[in-house]
Amino acid sequence: MIPATEPFVVNGRRYAPPRRIVTVVCLDGSADEYLDAALARGRMPNLQRIAAGGYRGMARAQMPTFTNVNNSSIVTGVPPAVHGIGGNFFYDTAAGEEVMMNSARFLRAETLFPAAQKSGRKVAVVTAKEKLRDIFASGLIEAGGIAFSSEKAREAVLATHGIEHVESVAGTTPSIYSGEASIHVLRAGVRLAEAGRADFLYLSTTDYMQHKHAPEDPEILDFYAAIDLEVGHLLKLGAVVGITADHGMNAKQRPDGSPNVVFLESELAERFGPGFRVILPITDPYVVHHGALGSFAQVHVPDGADVAAVMKAISALPGITEVHTREAAARLMELPPDRMGDIVVVSGRDAVLGRTPAYHDLKALAGGLRSHGGRYEEMVPFVISEHLTPQYLARARSDVRNFDIFEFACNGVARKH
Ligand SMILES: [Zn+2]
Repeated sequence: MIPATEPFVVNGRRYAPPRRIVTVVCLDGSADEYLDAALARGRMPNLQRIAAGGYRGMARAQMPTFTNVNNSSIVTGVPPAVHGIGGNFFYDTAAGEEVMMNSARFLRAETLFPAAQKSGRKVAVVTAKEKLRDIFASGLIEAGGIAFSSEKAREAVLATHGIEHVESVAGTTPSIYSGEASIHVLRAGVRLAEAGRADFLYLSTTDYMQHKHAPEDPEILDFYAAIDLEVGHLLKLGAVVGITADHGMNAKQRPDGSPNVVFLESELAERFGPGFRVILPITDPYVVHHGALGSFAQVHVPDGADVAAVMKAISALPGITEVHTREAAARLMELPPDRMGDIVVVSGRDAVLGRTPAYHDLKALAGGLRSHGGRYEEMVPFVISEHLTPQYLARARSDVRNFDIFEFACNGVARKH
């Protein structure tokens, strides 16, 4: 039994975790179709039990549907308007440079982990991608917790990660371009919980497999079966397990299989002349995943441009589904206006936004383009291994957000009867 701890409050939310291991899993890029396909083939027996005996539904993710944005929301419990991370990248107009937001110094809100650790829980955060570790580790290591990435598992040291010799716990450091990169995360969480080194965990995987495979591909069915096995280990340890995703995933192709890209910077230069800067906030160091092509873009217009005319021209392009001013998008999507362009553009289920043809290496996408960033990747799985209380069940059936998951896992679990 986990010792009783005091409830804690972070960013206006109160968390009163049960005296059980609490684990939240963020399956990166896990559209609900992946769970459906695996369940239909009997490949996820543990999830099947949860779906019948606990809760399985959907939640609304945070726009833009990217990894950093949603992971930052999940670990803080607030939208980007509050925590500040509205993309992997933003254009700093004052400095005149494009800045990658993979560091805690861009975070404007605390994560819930230092408070959980200080309340007496043993917190461990494991992520596949190193780019997220710094954000997750913010304030946690000093408080006595653990945070490391599978990608750099062998480099983890006590002073900065709260743990060392990770490979002896979770196995050899995997390639980031593999399914194992994600399974390693879950296995590490299981081992830490088993050893009594952690009782409050956040496990965040990578979407390499979802970028590469449609839900019914044999490789990804094996991948989900491996995930389910680790979920089973967590359940055996008596853990409350919450599962959600940062975003879904869709094929962004024409029927002939070629990538369906709207090259916004080229289109705008052709119509209005030079000076437009299109920021693609999906951009990160892992180009093999998506070639920096997603369904969301920020457009910075040159001085003197007619914003209304530019917006009208963008709206008329095939594949475009939404065009907003900065003010409208900040309100509708709860984004931080000071880290946005003048115009926000979203594309459809089968379309992505690019800058110019020369900017993107489409060769890296051999085998087809699957990506995310827009509305069609917004609804994601929301799973809790236990019966919910009537109050939380009602919330789950309203406009529940993926970043409500920690609150649900801590406060929403009905007592066994
Ligand atoms: Zn992705």
